[in-house]
Amino acid sequence: MNGSRAWRAYLLAGAAGMAVFVLLPYGMPRDVACVLGGLAAVTAMLCSVARRRGGAVLPWTLLLLGQLAMTAGDALWVYYQHVAGTDPFPSAADGFYLLEYPLVAAALFTLVRRRRPSGDREAWLDGAIVAVGLALPYWVLLGPDPGGHDSVLTRVITLGYPVGDMLLLAGLAVVLTVTGARTPALRMIVAALGFLLAGDVLFVLVDDPAGLALPVDVLPYLLSYLLWGAAALHPSAADLLRAGTEPVTFLTPRRLLVLTAVVLLAPGTLIVQLALGFELDSWAVAIASVLLFLLVVARMAGMLRRLEEQARRLDEIARTDTLTGLPNRRTMDAQLAREYERAARDAVPLTLALIDLDRFKRFNDTHGHQAGDALLSGAATAWSLALGGGDMLARYGGEEFVLLMPGRDPDGAEHLLAALRAATPQGQTFSAGLALWDGRETPLELLNRADTALYAAKEAGRGRTERAAPGGGRLSGAPVRDAAG
Ligand code: GH3
Ligand code: MG
Ligand code: MG
Repeated sequence: MNGSRAWRAYLLAGAAGMAVFVLLPYGMPRDVACVLGGLAAVTAMLCSVARRRGGAVLPWTLLLLGQLAMTAGDALWVYYQHVAGTDPFPSAADGFYLLEYPLVAAALFTLVRRRRPSGDREAWLDGAIVAVGLALPYWVLLGPDPGGHDSVLTRVITLGYPVGDMLLLAGLAVVLTVTGARTPALRMIVAALGFLLAGDVLFVLVDDPAGLALPVDVLPYLLSYLLWGAAALHPSAADLLRAGTEPVTFLTPRRLLVLTAVVLLAPGTLIVQLALGFELDSWAVAIASVLLFLLVVARMAGMLRRLEEQARRLDEIARTDTLTGLPNRRTMDAQLAREYERAARDAVPLTLALIDLDRFKRFNDTHGHQAGDALLSGAATAWSLALGGGDMLARYGGEEFVLLMPGRDPDGAEHLLAALRAATPQGQTFSAGLALWDGRETPLELLNRADTALYAAKEAGRGRTERAAPGGGRLSGAPVRDAAG
């Protein structure tokens, strides 16, 4: 039988069994039916584990062991009640029942860890917030009465059930908050967990199960068995580990709503108890509130850290040219303003060169645009290696670059440009227009003078540096040659 037929057949048979089950009278028939339902789930899960490979083996094995423990507990219960005729508490059956919780919780945590190998801290924090938030009202409603006079063992076993439920609740919360592929098998696992928890709640709340027309106290358990088996047999069971694509760093409105509602459960519990005149569970509320505050602060801190990191990355992107990795025009303009201030304050020369690759269109046409890109980034790298610490090279646009040389006089600048020319890859040449700031002109005027000089260099035959005519400012007396080769 192939996978898709097997799970349908199982579910159909289970539904038919369930219809019979609700008609069974209280006592032995129902209890035996529970064992049979549990065995059916164990068999289905055993078939599934045998087929699993890789990372899915461990979670499914843990789930199988959990269901096995539950079924062993049911079988022992039948023995005590209907064979030995006793009603012991605590008994070995409780030991088996309690074993299920850590096993299933371990399966869930393994599952989540493998679905999120990169370790999504935010998802885990959300899971913890939901688990703590939900645990509080559960504990307040169904937690054990601390004032009993039972033996230590009895108290430990009695405490074991709500603690086990909280473990499951935590597992369920993490499975639901960690985004992953919501496959049918995963949905069935979530539903099975829901029924298991509902079963535990009803078990405590229903005082007299014998007096009920329907077996509402055990029906949720049986439904959870049915769903465990169906999930195990479903074809998507193998796919349980497929991770989701989107991270949960940022809160979607739904996630924010759920987290808010869950956090409000702490003050909400207190408000309900005050309003209805109940005894206050002050300690439980206080402990849950402290945990929730810490978790929410950790969540906020994580988001802030990520925001800062993103802002830093965006800033870097905004200031860098993608192709060459050089500073872009925006960065150069800002740097130019800063260097103006420094040159004026320290009375040092500030030279600027406009560099333009020669006949680059022809290079593109001959070798292709990609080879042109490679040449642009290769030249940028080679030139950068030849620069001094104070110089700044930026891609100004297309195949044009600006070289800012604070502290270099035109001779020094021309020397540096000759070094760049020698370092240019593939025998490519460039022309450059060089201008010394006159101490008064605006950056635009300085760039215009360099551009005019660049135009002159092109006119004069390319592959050379041309110095701009002196500006009209107070530094215009600096030694400036009229032409260079
Ligand atoms: P000149 O010596 O007069 O500067 O000639 P040129 O061909 O270099 O000048 P022109 O301004 O006519 O052409 C510039 C070319 O640069 C045109 C364009 O295809 C090329 N170019 C501009 N930006 C890029 C780029 O990012 N990648 C590549 N591959 N080519 C680019
Ligand atoms: Mg150009
Ligand atoms: Mg050019």
